[in-house]
Amino acid sequence: MVIKDIESKLIITKFAMHGYNVHPSAIELLKEFKNELDEIIPKICSALNGSFIISREDILPILNEFKRKRRKEQFKKQFFVEKPKEVKNLKDEICIIKDITGTSTCEGNVDDFIAYFNSRFEKLSKILRQRLNGISISNIKKIRTEKVDVIGMVKDVRETQNGNVLVEIEDNTDSIRFIATGKLRDLALELMGDEVIGVSGVLRNNNIIADKIIFPDVPLNGEKKRTNFSIVFISDTHFGSKEFLEKEWDLFIKWLNFEVGNEKMREIAESVKYVVLAGDVVDGVGIYPNQEKDLKILDVYGQYEEAAMQIDKIPKRIKVIVSPGNHDAVRQAEPQPALLKEFSNLFSNNVVNVGNPSFLNLDGIKLLIYHGRSLDDVVTKIPRLSYAKPQEAMVELLKRRHLAPMYGGRSPIAPEKEDYLVIEEIPDIFHCGHIHTYGTSFYRGVFLVNSSTWQAQTEFQKKVNLNPMPCNVAVYTPSGEVVRLKFYGG
Ligand code: FE
Ligand code: ZN
Repeated sequence: MVIKDIESKLIITKFAMHGYNVHPSAIELLKEFKNELDEIIPKICSALNGSFIISREDILPILNEFKRKRRKEQFKKQFFVEKPKEVKNLKDEICIIKDITGTSTCEGNVDDFIAYFNSRFEKLSKILRQRLNGISISNIKKIRTEKVDVIGMVKDVRETQNGNVLVEIEDNTDSIRFIATGKLRDLALELMGDEVIGVSGVLRNNNIIADKIIFPDVPLNGEKKRTNFSIVFISDTHFGSKEFLEKEWDLFIKWLNFEVGNEKMREIAESVKYVVLAGDVVDGVGIYPNQEKDLKILDVYGQYEEAAMQIDKIPKRIKVIVSPGNHDAVRQAEPQPALLKEFSNLFSNNVVNVGNPSFLNLDGIKLLIYHGRSLDDVVTKIPRLSYAKPQEAMVELLKRRHLAPMYGGRSPIAPEKEDYLVIEEIPDIFHCGHIHTYGTSFYRGVFLVNSSTWQAQTEFQKKVNLNPMPCNVAVYTPSGEVVRLKFYGG
């Protein structure tokens, strides 16, 4: 696979691992230091104060100093440090089908990127081949047939002067452009870089005039799954934050302990077998500027102690599955491994720590947990979507069969040799958080849930105009009906 501007992607990712975005002008400067990035980037990050987009001006003094002292040092692999192997405690019915924890091989070099994009293309084109019989791009150019079906990774999308959309796609043989007109135009404008699609159309002057854009998607005939237990979905507890809603949380705990609620609610509580927490367990430290002002507990270890104490209030008959998010103390790039032992050890025996994403089998129910950072990219890219309806953005991930279709957006990706973010197997339930709003729906038989938060609006969120919908809990009941519980004011 030919990867467009691999050096830029590498630089973007390395900064993202530190939580920063970097301006294109700074990227250009940094390319000159491609073998010393691991040494330079931490210096740049520690010299910054407050800026989240790193500009040319931010890095110039450091690069100049570095040039002076430049020595032939070996490329140090200090970024994509492999986390110690977590001993997987397979509790009775929870079977971890897929999870990066303990198996990360990524070192962030050019070979990793090539392997990563190859894996992404292979996995997604395999899914697409069930839907169309694509031939390779180099063959299209040789054979010069009229009608063509092709599978490719989106490289570039742009509007032409006459209002059509020109999309460049590539496979591991070559690249080609297709033109989307009429109704297809809007669909083409929603394409994100680096996703893999199928195109069907007619060949004209080396371009394809598209009459269909095909997503990997999930099959139409899916049906909702029945169980003999209930699953409770929560996320974004942000323990350690001043805005953690303790009274409401305690009400939730009381419900699980049969202490509040009517008969119907008690019946539901009795059927609960699992509570799933999809990331942002704690508020973390240094996640955004001046976060200290919003923190009740200032150190991360203390925050996890608080988390363990609060989660310990969940009755022991229930198994709790905990997956991390971007506020947690694991590497920022996805896939994220489970919490480190020093934190996971704090939790009671009924808690299982898994990675982000992870694909589990809960007693016959296939559950895909993903914190949901890429939903920021999806909502930003597609104007008809909004944070108020996170479930609609989740549909876009399912359609693309990828948890973070766009590389180099707000969701940093570690280029593992295998793309763990492809949705290979179709889940029964797809659970995200991150957005802090609530939304559920069924898409082709798959239950989608975005599970709100237990944190009231922070000053930072007020500034960026983010309106959370806290303390909403979705329960998937045995019949496949979904109950929404609101725990307001204790
Ligand atoms: Fe969050
Ligand atoms: Zn988050």
